[in-house]
Amino acid sequence: MARKESEPKERETPIKDITVLGNYSKWFHPAIPKFRQGKYVQVVVLRETKSHAIFTTEGQTLDVEHLQAGVKIKRPIDRIVMYKRKQIAPERRTGKALMRQFGMSPSHDVKDNKGKVVVAKGECQLMGNACGVCPDCILYGFAATAGTGSQRARVLTDSGFVVREQSQVMRDIKLNAIQETTAGGIAGAAYASRENVLPQVFIPTVETLVDVTPEEFVYVLGNILSTTRYGAEQNREGFVRNHVLGIYFSNVEVFSNLELTQRYYDALAQSDTVPDYLCLDNFTDKWSEVAQPFVENACGVVVEMPGEEREALLADVRKLYRDEARLATFLKALDEAAARYARETKKGEQPAEESE
Ligand SMILES: [Zn+2]
Repeated sequence: MARKESEPKERETPIKDITVLGNYSKWFHPAIPKFRQGKYVQVVVLRETKSHAIFTTEGQTLDVEHLQAGVKIKRPIDRIVMYKRKQIAPERRTGKALMRQFGMSPSHDVKDNKGKVVVAKGECQLMGNACGVCPDCILYGFAATAGTGSQRARVLTDSGFVVREQSQVMRDIKLNAIQETTAGGIAGAAYASRENVLPQVFIPTVETLVDVTPEEFVYVLGNILSTTRYGAEQNREGFVRNHVLGIYFSNVEVFSNLELTQRYYDALAQSDTVPDYLCLDNFTDKWSEVAQPFVENACGVVVEMPGEEREALLADVRKLYRDEARLATFLKALDEAAARYARETKKGEQPAEESE
């Protein structure tokens, strides 16, 4: 059964209003590529806690690493860590929840060779039950499960590190409420306490997109801008606001999380120590100073999106996400592109399970 391989004529329609992207078309792929070409888009995201937060994986204490304070300031300090999966999993869940609102993730039952439903419509899950055909699976990657292949992630992230020292940004909070929440539970249960990250704490991070389409880029930005809950188990998540400091196109990776944190430490330090009080302006004011050495030391082509264009782009993405009809068209196009890619890369392994 021959299927036309040509791109649908109006593929750019849903995001054609986001005109800034036209200036960077050479850094994107018109369709999801089968082979890596090493076109990187790095989005520098400053994560700011807006409530008390716990990024711990388990237990009462926060995850801490002993690390060099800055690049120039070489004394070691203890830093709170926000693990990689604590950053990306919430963003993936935000995107998947949104797609489910529009009848996707995935948009149809995924069946195995015998016609048995492996993942039902709307039931793609990050852990253990990936559908392998939705934009989330194809972009952020998934591990092999029964009946599906696997996909390497095209959104790369690493653990992030708080700029200030551990003692400057945390507090031990007693959980007096433990008795109320376990009504009828153990009387006189010991007071528990947990270490919390304070509000207005900053974690500079970078999300690296590899070989993506403009639609996929917009989708990742949408997830970054709309995700607000990060942290430990669900009832202890903290509110985090993501600020996009910079967007860079390159053929090499330019930024790393730890180096960003260390460069910020150097830039913000007064007599070798960063002040106890910091606000967003301190970080935005220092951004170009912090970014400069990364760009200068890169062994590759680096193009920075100017601030005005970046703000216009982010405003356009927010506008798209506020417009239900346009958003539906956008997500549908994204879904179709991912499904097309999944079909073409797994051709021969699976029978046609749908017709267009
Ligand atoms: Zn999926």
